[in-house]
Amino acid sequence: MSLKVFNTLTQKKEIFEPVTPGKVGMYVCGPTVYKPSHIGHAVGPVIFDTIKRYLQYKDYQVTWVVNITDVEDKLIAEAKAQGCGVKDLAERITVNYLEAMKELNVTGIDHLPKASEYIDGIIRMCERLIEKNAAYVVNGDVYFDITADADYGKLSHRKAEDQQSGTRDLAGEEKRNPNDFALWKAAKPEEPDEVKFDSPWGPGRPGWHIECSVMSCALLGETFDIHGGGMDLIFPHHENEIAQSETCHDKTFAKYWLHNGLTRFNTKKISKSDAEMAKRMNELVLGNLLKKYPGELLRFFILSTQYRRPIEFSDEELAAKSKGLDAFYRLFERMERLAGDPYAGGPTLDELHATADTDPEKAFVREVLDLRVRFLEDMDDDFNTGGATGTLFEMVTAINRFMDTQNLESGGDDRAKQLAAAAVQTLRDLARILGLFEYRPRREETPDRLAHELMDIMIRVRAEARKSKQYALSDMIRDQLAAAGVTLEDRPDGTIWRRG
Ligand SMILES: [Zn+2]
Repeated sequence: MSLKVFNTLTQKKEIFEPVTPGKVGMYVCGPTVYKPSHIGHAVGPVIFDTIKRYLQYKDYQVTWVVNITDVEDKLIAEAKAQGCGVKDLAERITVNYLEAMKELNVTGIDHLPKASEYIDGIIRMCERLIEKNAAYVVNGDVYFDITADADYGKLSHRKAEDQQSGTRDLAGEEKRNPNDFALWKAAKPEEPDEVKFDSPWGPGRPGWHIECSVMSCALLGETFDIHGGGMDLIFPHHENEIAQSETCHDKTFAKYWLHNGLTRFNTKKISKSDAEMAKRMNELVLGNLLKKYPGELLRFFILSTQYRRPIEFSDEELAAKSKGLDAFYRLFERMERLAGDPYAGGPTLDELHATADTDPEKAFVREVLDLRVRFLEDMDDDFNTGGATGTLFEMVTAINRFMDTQNLESGGDDRAKQLAAAAVQTLRDLARILGLFEYRPRREETPDRLAHELMDIMIRVRAEARKSKQYALSDMIRDQLAAAGVTLEDRPDGTIWRRG
């Protein structure tokens, strides 16, 4: 099996072959730290953390860099509005961002460079581009001349006439071409001293695009493997990164460009008044969402969709995903009751499959191992985490069915218990690639736990009643549960319940 990734540059799925065999350098554009992150900012980190985990699973040595934009127009404006220092604001919001990353189990970031710490490198790159006549100075600003890059537009696949200038650059009349962008911005008198850096062109600060070119080069080299970010960054930000880096170094900048889909918010039920929109946006701030929902649920929700597709975010969608997650937690609880702690580690099916003796045991082992192959095929297909989570669900069903048919609830035999436990370990090994189920969920994260346990008991009592032909009793259980708003559904592989 070989990994294929969809490359925005070529618009194709390509076989992944890193620049240096066995090693992968990955750069993902990080936050501008001026406001608390919202759910949309969680998507990229969760996706690329999962990509790193999968590359590591495939034995690549991965270095992952996420930049922190701590010098920027919006930061300066927000610090002024709050009456605080730019640096103070940036540090506060960075802490807030990192706390959210921790809750989402985003653990793979190796370097978090800040733009303000790379000013020397940024100035050097500007000088080199000026020497190459690819950049020019106007009144203390330095602009990149896009005509210096013969294939400008190759990432966004836009023709020159379609290109709109980014909103982050002021439209200067002195520019050679309307889409030339600022590499360096001259300081304005009203700006605070802490964002004024000395340069050969007078005091100023870097433009947004160049920081990524400089920091990726410093930490990953002039050519690296994966450059990621949200689809909204393709133009102009990533296009400009390519233009300045490839013009400066005369080398390919990044080999594979991976872009995640954006988050769509369900605002249908909200009247468009500013106050209500502001309230809704506040609810979508990551810190607030994480008070309401466990990080594991948000991560699971994000990974349930293929990463290039847009994610529809709503409380209803999250509630549906919460039910899905419960199926895993219930399996782990059942396993704990019947065959030992599922979080303790233990032999996997690879180690135990030879002990399978009976036909049902052999069939079960084969089914779980086949599902593992499918999971890995899903991941090899451009990190199809949506397919992979679906495959894990099938594994849950297979394990539950095996536990049922082997009568583990009423004892069962030790070998069957061991095989069920090993299958759960196999499932958890795969889930770890997605950053899921690494830790036991906190009790408050599963408020339905007692309800699930009681319903499991009711379903078993009803099954026993039916077995001994006590139909009046089994009907009574079903009817009274229905009166309480719980529907039972008998399926070939067992009875399930749902509310309503
Ligand atoms: Zn960037």
